[in-house]
Amino acid sequence: MKLNVVCIPGDGIGPEIVAQAKKVLNKALALYGHEITYQDILMGGASIDVHGVPLTDEAIANAKAADAVLMGSIGGDTTKSPWYKLAPELRPEAGLLKIRKALNLFANLRPAVLYPELADACPLRGETRKNGFDMLIMRELTGGLYFGERKTITENGERKAIDTLTYSESEIRRIAIKGFEIARKRRKKVTSVDKANVLDSSRLWRAVVEEVAKDYPDVTLEHMLVDNCAMQLVKDPAQFDVILTENMFGDILSDEASMVTGSIGMLASASLNDTKFGLYEPSHGSAPDIAGKDIANPIATVLSASMMLRYSFDLDDVADAVDRAVQQVLQDGLRTVDIMSEGCRQVGCSEMGDLICERITGGQRDEK
Ligand code: NAD
Repeated sequence: MKLNVVCIPGDGIGPEIVAQAKKVLNKALALYGHEITYQDILMGGASIDVHGVPLTDEAIANAKAADAVLMGSIGGDTTKSPWYKLAPELRPEAGLLKIRKALNLFANLRPAVLYPELADACPLRGETRKNGFDMLIMRELTGGLYFGERKTITENGERKAIDTLTYSESEIRRIAIKGFEIARKRRKKVTSVDKANVLDSSRLWRAVVEEVAKDYPDVTLEHMLVDNCAMQLVKDPAQFDVILTENMFGDILSDEASMVTGSIGMLASASLNDTKFGLYEPSHGSAPDIAGKDIANPIATVLSASMMLRYSFDLDDVADAVDRAVQQVLQDGLRTVDIMSEGCRQVGCSEMGDLICERITGGQRDEK
């Protein structure tokens, strides 16, 4: 297979971590007999410095023409960087919002994995920490409360704010289909999270999810109220495989799940549209405080690249090889500074990329 990928190195540590993900992709894909070509585009501060805007129309057109986009992260020090003296629509983050909209990315995927080797970083105790967990939160990204009509009026002499939460059947159906499709690639369980005891939008959500579930008899569906889910995430996170939920609930629950892992440099993410196209990026930001020092953890970006192989290209075998290599570096006691612990060897960003590459095995060429 020939993969045509647009890369957005971005700002801060972005170029350093994307370089490692490219190294890993090159090694893994070559081993399994595939080809990849990259085209880099500018976004965020890097684009402001060259073009005066955080994302050009030409960059969007290039992204649209690719099979997938792999991104580092964008933005600078929000208190010191001159980028934050610009009007809001010209700041780095505006580029991110623009590309998400242009590419119609409505499904956000955030895996939260607790590796046994990094269990000490987990704020939970006892069995919960020891058992580890591996879940994926699928959040609807373009509907619900954040995109509904809003206004503030004055009524009976006092200010009154109104936000509207709407979901259409088609908006729910398309993300539910994504959720079940992705569960099929994992442990085949979907927990749909809503507030159906109170909200009409949640009752419609639940009804449509149940309709979609009929096409996926091999996937187990359960429903959970959002308040219970917030508790279960800290009580027994291992029960979850895919959590499927609407925009605001997903915003809150995905941050909660990330914190439970305790390792920001390890968290991948993806945003998908209704084709196989996706934008893949680490969950963390551009970490300007450590940029250019070759100490950033590239694993979140490497794991985002692995999600790209799995969800945009259906190359599950290559993605598995990358995920295994990441697990192997951890088992071998190799750590970047953010996840360093006693008895391990500390390595830099670039060396971590090399060490992951060395541990990629399998594939056609390896077997010969
Ligand atoms: P951040 O995630 O960049 O950093 C938070 C802390 O975690 C810092 O101490 C940083 O050094 C550390 N850290 C983050 N990633 C790391 C890694 N891979 N390895 C080791 N340590 C890591 O969050 P912030 O400081 O709030 O934001 C910095 C900039 O990033 C801001 O401009 C913000 O707007 C932007 N940002 C961009 C994205 C994105 O591109 N999607 C997301 C979040 C924040």
